[in-house]
Amino acid sequence: MEKEKFKCPGCGTEITMDVHEFVDVKEDPAYKDAIMSGAFFLAQCPACGASTLAEYPMMYMDPDRKLTVYMAPGHDDSLLSQLNSLELPASAVDPEAVFRVVQDGGELLEKILIADGGRDDRVIELYKALVYENIKEEWPDVRREDLLYYLDGEEDYFIIWDYTNAMGEQLTVNLDEALYQELVQDYLAALEVPAGKYVEVNATWLASRIDVE
Ligand SMILES: [Zn+2]
Repeated sequence: MEKEKFKCPGCGTEITMDVHEFVDVKEDPAYKDAIMSGAFFLAQCPACGASTLAEYPMMYMDPDRKLTVYMAPGHDDSLLSQLNSLELPASAVDPEAVFRVVQDGGELLEKILIADGGRDDRVIELYKALVYENIKEEWPDVRREDLLYYLDGEEDYFIIWDYTNAMGEQLTVNLDEALYQELVQDYLAALEVPAGKYVEVNATWLASRIDVE
């Protein structure tokens, strides 16, 4: 196991953190819990007790969900072509397997929840764009990237991350099953991605595929 050392931003004490660059949550389900609770990328200072967010490049693999997500904070433009440079024979590619790139732990969590909810992240991105168009007049300070998919048990909805209104309530929008299915039917073909290749599915990617404004 790799270790990383950095200085506590609070008191300057050196913190040693375990680094897991490859995480297979079928082998180690506890890692999935830690990622979902947010504890995975937190390092606690042994001196002052403060927790510091320390995100690093990590490959998340869930073979049961056929989901692979490479989390690469601040990655450069060449990452996708590097990841996709390997040409595999068609017989070695599972067309149902999903390969994604994300920037941070929040985006990784959303991809995990989308897979847990049995949703397609390309359609969810489109759905979020529609929700945003509907709420932006009433909620002018909400940014498009603050809108996140969330799953609670069986129920899935969209939340505005880290946002509460004057009443102290968090804005949530329920996912309408009929609308979701309509989007799958009408748009999934237009959102096709090559099998076995990594894609960074986010608002920018969606805008490059469909005119949503
Ligand atoms: Zn400290």
